Amino acid sequence: MGAEYANVIVEITHEQVDRFFQYRIPEEWRDVLEEGMQVEIPFGAGNRRITGYVIERTDRPQWDPAKIKPVLGIRESGTAIEGNLIRLAAWLKREYGSTMIQALKTVLPIRKKVKAKEKRYVKALLGAGELETYRAAAEKKHQTARARLAAALQKDPVIPGEVLLHKLNISPATVKAMAEAGVLEMLSETAYRNPLEGRFERAGKKMLNPEQESVVRDILAGWREKDLRPCLIHGVTGSGKTEIYMELMERVIGEGRQVIVLIPEIALTYQTVMRFYRRFGQRVSIINSRLSPGEKYDQFERARQGLVDIMVGPRSALFTPFPRLGLIVIDEEHEGAYQSETAPRYHAREAANQRARTENAYLVLGSATPSLTAYARGQSGEYRLFSLKKRAREGSELAQVGIVDLREELKQGNRSIFSRLLQEKIRERLEKKEQVILFLNRRGYAGFVSCRACGHVLKCPHCDVSLTYHKDGALKCHYCGYEAVMPKLCPACGSPYIAAFGTGTQKAEEMAGRYFPEARILRMDMDTTRQKDGHEKILAAFANHEADILIGTQMIVKGHDFPRVTLVGALAADLSLYTPDYHGAERTFQLLTQAAGRAGRAGLKGEMLIQTYSPEHYSIRTAASQDYEGFYEREIGYRRMLKYPPVCAMLSVLVSSLKEEAAREAALRLADAAKDGENEVIGPAEAPIARVNDRYRQVIYVKRWEKQGLIRLKDRWEELFSAEEKRDLQFQFDFE
Ligand code: ADP
Ligand code: ZN
Ligand code: ZN
Repeated sequence: MGAEYANVIVEITHEQVDRFFQYRIPEEWRDVLEEGMQVEIPFGAGNRRITGYVIERTDRPQWDPAKIKPVLGIRESGTAIEGNLIRLAAWLKREYGSTMIQALKTVLPIRKKVKAKEKRYVKALLGAGELETYRAAAEKKHQTARARLAAALQKDPVIPGEVLLHKLNISPATVKAMAEAGVLEMLSETAYRNPLEGRFERAGKKMLNPEQESVVRDILAGWREKDLRPCLIHGVTGSGKTEIYMELMERVIGEGRQVIVLIPEIALTYQTVMRFYRRFGQRVSIINSRLSPGEKYDQFERARQGLVDIMVGPRSALFTPFPRLGLIVIDEEHEGAYQSETAPRYHAREAANQRARTENAYLVLGSATPSLTAYARGQSGEYRLFSLKKRAREGSELAQVGIVDLREELKQGNRSIFSRLLQEKIRERLEKKEQVILFLNRRGYAGFVSCRACGHVLKCPHCDVSLTYHKDGALKCHYCGYEAVMPKLCPACGSPYIAAFGTGTQKAEEMAGRYFPEARILRMDMDTTRQKDGHEKILAAFANHEADILIGTQMIVKGHDFPRVTLVGALAADLSLYTPDYHGAERTFQLLTQAAGRAGRAGLKGEMLIQTYSPEHYSIRTAASQDYEGFYEREIGYRRMLKYPPVCAMLSVLVSSLKEEAAREAALRLADAAKDGENEVIGPAEAPIARVNDRYRQVIYVKRWEKQGLIRLKDRWEELFSAEEKRDLQFQFDFE
């Protein structure tokens, strides 16, 4: 659509994207020139002819139009990966609302000069029997890290160095000590490449069972017929989805193309990572959010140069600059972590679809509990839908799930957070030396602090939320980090009866210690995992059976595979049910179903107990019977009735200001601008948390049958306020 000017960047890096130059687009190219195209331009005082990339088209000249030089030519290198990523950025900007610069910074890696570090590998020098002797001896001496590494080497004689460090939580000092003891040796990549070629590959491949086989066959048949629709694999936990991904990946790589695999960070564990290494060896690269920008740039550079074929990582791995991308896999498609929290607030599922389409790549999504959005598309035929009903491994059954009515417990005089049935089952497991997972959808020692005399609740002075009591005596705001000491007297009425209420993971840990004094207990939540590699440390210790009970927030039920866990308890399933948005039931169902999947993965019979005050709620009932379709039918019925996504499209805007009045006025103007006869406008109203960091927040929801109209509305909203007004106001747009 004939824009007059093009903004062009000359250097494609994260740091240089705000340095763009404007050129005039000659008349005959106004309909052809697009974002992402490579153009030739006159540059500098001498008008040197150089190439750059168009990042934006605009009708607004940046300075005197007479002085703006023209674009000299369009390059025909239409498939350059940089161009594709810039095009993707332009789409993100249009679709989700952000500046072009924010969008470019999302897709382009930060360039950091790093000395290209050679990848290192650790290789066992002892056989499995000797390793076991060494492991047992180390364990006796309480050298748990050495024991852990010796156990890992029995399974995988070669392990990449960064996996040891980041996933198995083995320090370089431990590796060095074991090398000196002659247990292992360190190999560099070049040393590794030749003599050890193919070492991982042998272990990796499994014979697919008939159910898996038929899914692979159907997907491939569609691809052969140029069916480029995304494929959604709905398969119960442990049904072998990962094996299917790997089979498909092998095909795509065999055709000389490359693969991106997205896995939520929390599920990107040692076990998961090693499965990819075992199958694909050094052609795999893994990124995670803890890598420094330099390390990440290094990995992306290797991908660009074709040194690896597979990039495994969280959301941002989607922007790996593979020049011949063939397949994007998104595992645990329903996970909230795929939604970006900063502008552009994109969803990886949608961005992946966009990237796959422009680069002619396939897209495969998988989950045991697909998002309603994805499953509805599967039903309508927008996605191809496949399902796996059985667990893949011989003798591995889905866990048996029971529900405990907590109201009944209370009536019977049991006020503890463990029902009698759960206590009994935990004792049983402890006796059999099996492991238990207990989870709670909340963190902290207790919920809020209030006065029993006057009802006053202690709140953060900057945010409209209650403070949370921690065991060390501190009161913390989980939104802004504000801390205070617990007062002795109520600040409102002076009463000494001020105390913390509710239960959190710290409290649960303390209670478990009292009920099961013989058990070794580990806790995993936001507080215990704050330090570097905190997750890995706890998970590795639990996997190594250094504890009997793992207590934590929902983060412990996502994607981990602990063979000795035979009991999972949801201490209070209701906590995720009554949330202020329409996702409560969906989230509860997903959480409980995923949690049930953690029990009994290795031939041992698994069991789950759901403790709840709402035993009749459909999300809890269907989770207990692991009946996804049953849940879907009920939930989609509600969404249809109340008009919520995915039945319709929804856009929300959160506007905030340091002045309460300004926030309200802005919200009213936004709401007015939204009224066009087809939009259903809800609000403005105070946001559920009306103030954060001293900014007052107002929210508006708009529903509409089709999304394009909402994208246009978002564009209108962005134009509504002057630059002056925007200095004070902040906006946050959200689809769904
Ligand atoms: P999902 O990704 O659906 O949770 P996985 O691919 O992780 O399932 O498989 C679950 C377990 O079953 C893993 O331990 C895996 O090694 C095993 N498994 C998967 N497919 C097969 C198969 N065809 N034969 C034997 N074991 C299998
Ligand atoms: Zn009081
Ligand atoms: Zn606060």
